Amino acid sequence: MACDYIELANKGVQGLQPYQPGKPVEELERELGISDIVKLASNENPLGPSPKALAAIHTVLTELTRYPDGNGFRLKAALAEKLGVGTDQITLGNGSNDVLEMIARSYLTAHSASMYSQHAFAVYPIVTQAIGAQHIAVPAKNWGHDLQAMAEAITDKTRVIFVANPNNPTGTWLTETELRAFLDKVPERIIVVLDEAYTEYVVEDEFPDGITLLKDYPSLVVTRTFSKAYGLAGLRIGYSVSNPQVADILNRIRQPFNANIAAQEAAIAALNDEAYLQQSVEVNAEGMSYLETEFARLGLEFIPSVGNFISVDVGQPAAPVDKALLNEGVIVRPVAPYQMPNHLRVSIGTMEENRRFIQALEKVLGALAGEQQ
Ligand SMILES: *Cc1c(COP(=O)(O)O)cnc(C)c1O
Repeated sequence: MACDYIELANKGVQGLQPYQPGKPVEELERELGISDIVKLASNENPLGPSPKALAAIHTVLTELTRYPDGNGFRLKAALAEKLGVGTDQITLGNGSNDVLEMIARSYLTAHSASMYSQHAFAVYPIVTQAIGAQHIAVPAKNWGHDLQAMAEAITDKTRVIFVANPNNPTGTWLTETELRAFLDKVPERIIVVLDEAYTEYVVEDEFPDGITLLKDYPSLVVTRTFSKAYGLAGLRIGYSVSNPQVADILNRIRQPFNANIAAQEAAIAALNDEAYLQQSVEVNAEGMSYLETEFARLGLEFIPSVGNFISVDVGQPAAPVDKALLNEGVIVRPVAPYQMPNHLRVSIGTMEENRRFIQALEKVLGALAGEQQ
């Protein structure tokens, strides 16, 4: 080749590393030749999809020859009713990541900057750099957002601030008082994205509901997803709620049919399956408390989390521990790319999966300690 097609790409894109997803179960099955793999790597709902969502998908299979409703009329209506907002405030996405990208493309340029915290979700830098925009990554405090430092780091160039509540991969969270104090300091011209991918799991009294903050903060864009507590990660459906002008702008650059037929139908059904949601939250709470107890027994420090995952400090570089766990058929997520080289992020599974993980972890840590002697 006479040309270097890496060099020809946009500078921002050249500087990116591809997003590292959790290893697919099938891939590890092929590698190890075994079948009872436990995957606790992508914060997926361990219960499988809601039966109501599955039934809803079946009703639309014969419609797959048609394009989906590009305006998502019925799903937006269902969301608007549930959340008490206007349909003109809602933007649907092919997963909420799609909406994060629309926000970056709409409000960032090569001459402006986004801001997020250290240890924040990997998609924020990806969507920022793809635009060629700059970013400000503000050092974290106790693994969580340092909102004071973030407010102080705002410059004339800052156009978008990403805040995940709770944050992934740390599981740390912000109270309503903390968040409001921050929003009060942010100039109205800066879009503040409040990423609430895990909000359904959080039971803490002081945890804010981003939707109710919208009326006080017009620059706020709340993103949510059906990928986690609603158990539909494979369908790719998420949304944002914002003021109608922001929604209007996002709608101008949105791919016309970004939310597929099956996803729209399943999301409507899942939204109304309260029993499934409640069970998801209960299974998560039980698993979380089990893992915390077991980590303590094994003498491992962890970051207290309100999500459906927990990051544990394995007391040594996590990469070899991760590799050994894979050999035991357990997939978790190394978080070295998030500047957490000694942590593994573990999604909460069913109790059977959680026990399998702990057994494997204990075995692996014992073996590694033996090797060092
Ligand atoms: C999982 C996750 C999302 C959701 O992504 P989808 O595209 O909706 O699947 C968004 N933000 C954070 C912080 C996440 O962890």
